[in-house]
Amino acid sequence: MTAMSEAMSASAQARTMSDESPAAPPPPEVIYVKTRRIACDGGGALGHPIVWYSLEDGEAECGYCDRKFVYDPEKAGS
Ligand SMILES: [Zn+2]
Repeated sequence: MTAMSEAMSASAQARTMSDESPAAPPPPEVIYVKTRRIACDGGGALGHPIVWYSLEDGEAECGYCDRKFVYDPEKAGS
């Protein structure tokens, strides 16, 4: 009797294991820029249609890829 209930709980556990969610997405990137008007296309193969943002408040977040653009000429570098 005991063996049977053990087998049942084992199969229930296997079902739960296969239902695992995929790996979490990478954290949003912060990009420092030295112009108040920037374009984002997501970058690389995982890109998206190009969108322009005005950093009137000093920063903007891309609605497609969640990258954050911060107006900071010193950190932007060359
Ligand atoms: Zn983007």
